[in-house]
Amino acid sequence: MDLLYRSTRGEKQQVTASQAIIKGLADDGGLYVPLSLPKLSVEPEALVGLPYQEVAYLVMKEFLTDFTEAELRACIKRAYDDKFDDQAIAPLVKRDGQYFLELFHGATIAFKDMALSILPHLLTTSLKKNHVDKEIVILTATSGDTGKAALAGFADVPGTSIIVFYPKGGVSPIQEKQMLTQKGQNTTVIGVEGNFDDCQTGVKKMFADVKLKEDLAAHGYQFSSANSINIGRLVPQVAYYAYAYACMRAQGELKSGQKMNVVVPTGNFGNILAAYYAKQMGIPIDQLICASNENRVLFDFFQSGCYDRNRDFILTSSPSMDILISSNLERLIYLIAGESTEKNAAMMAELQTKGSYTITAKMKEKLADFCGIYADESEVFGVIREIQERSGYVIDTHTAVAAAALKKYCDNTADQNPCVIISTASPYKFARSVMNAIDSKYDALEDFALIDELSRLSGVKVPKAIEEIRTAPILHHTVCAKEMMEDSVRNVLSIS
Ligand SMILES: *Cc1c(COP(=O)(O)O)cnc(C)c1O
Repeated sequence: MDLLYRSTRGEKQQVTASQAIIKGLADDGGLYVPLSLPKLSVEPEALVGLPYQEVAYLVMKEFLTDFTEAELRACIKRAYDDKFDDQAIAPLVKRDGQYFLELFHGATIAFKDMALSILPHLLTTSLKKNHVDKEIVILTATSGDTGKAALAGFADVPGTSIIVFYPKGGVSPIQEKQMLTQKGQNTTVIGVEGNFDDCQTGVKKMFADVKLKEDLAAHGYQFSSANSINIGRLVPQVAYYAYAYACMRAQGELKSGQKMNVVVPTGNFGNILAAYYAKQMGIPIDQLICASNENRVLFDFFQSGCYDRNRDFILTSSPSMDILISSNLERLIYLIAGESTEKNAAMMAELQTKGSYTITAKMKEKLADFCGIYADESEVFGVIREIQERSGYVIDTHTAVAAAALKKYCDNTADQNPCVIISTASPYKFARSVMNAIDSKYDALEDFALIDELSRLSGVKVPKAIEEIRTAPILHHTVCAKEMMEDSVRNVLSIS
């Protein structure tokens, strides 16, 4: 019997995992969730000592039950290979007396590689299984990180092409160069004269455009999205929590049966939801500490039970967490509402119309596994400096939000569980903020001088992802007005 998926908003139709991956979002706007959360088929102890790929297989096979063993293993093999600069794929390191799960050893040195390196393979396999013979066109709007990770994941994957829109002038110089130097016959990067919202609105409009859809189909194309709400991005993320547990046991940091806490720097709520799924599968996780930056919507939600996006949007040094609507939270709301699609849909409708909703006291009780904490900019910079001074280890600004949150947690509770800090980006990706936190004198250096200084200071070799863009040629030159996004897509695909 296959595990089936349903929409969090009540649409009747149930789909297989591969169909959910192809569709991304349900037609009623809901997110696909499994009818019941699966359990691991082996004891957590049996994971100790296994390579990452094997742990990933044991976790993912429980969610993607309509994939054959050969299909799933092939996807995993193609994703988690020497694109990663560490054989462990997601090494668990102990520095400064703390545990860090480093999720930044992939092609674009941020944790989105963990899912986006396998999504293209899951998607192409799903298409074959469902006899879809169209070429898939991935459309993505990016504020910087997702675009590059998706480009790297889909580059030269047969049967797909990818078009990324980013706000011209709205991303960092390094992020822009990372995207504009992207190789691959099937990749297109377009700068939009507008902000991120303009890019996102333009992409959403194209997804909803029936005429465009028909024209695409007539030319053998079909749109899809690499958005973080796709179940094909969520499921691969469950794997590294199982792997983190296995590493903690293997390294003697946890006793048999002892639980660990995880501290997750959170934006869209995908990463920490994967931790929750891992816990439900049977991985010995106790507390899930949800770390926010100054955009503390989630902190306030865990405090009061009210999710309220009506507030100023704050630009911080951890831009990938500057988010006011955490899309994946909907999957948790659905669960704590007793898997009621009706109650969930009502709250999401309120979020749409009023910008806020409040959960019931009974629902709030079910959030006992979570603890929301936020860190302001001075705490974030402080913790980067302290850890560097004490141990020489340099962490990025997003990871630092988690490290600062953990510090507050330890100050305010008597909890003795070992805590794993989820490290979501390489410090090289946010070198300017990181170096400024350590000493303001570095601000005088230009980008690549700063990179070299970071390497000297941390003793960590400059990653390939950064080294490459020093000299790589710019391959993408298109810039368009925000009203011209659809024309650009038609152009790229030669559809009149
Ligand atoms: C996307 C991202 C996050 C936030 O992860 P969510 O799954 O959206 O909560 C944190 N850190 C970095 C570096 C990211 O790129």
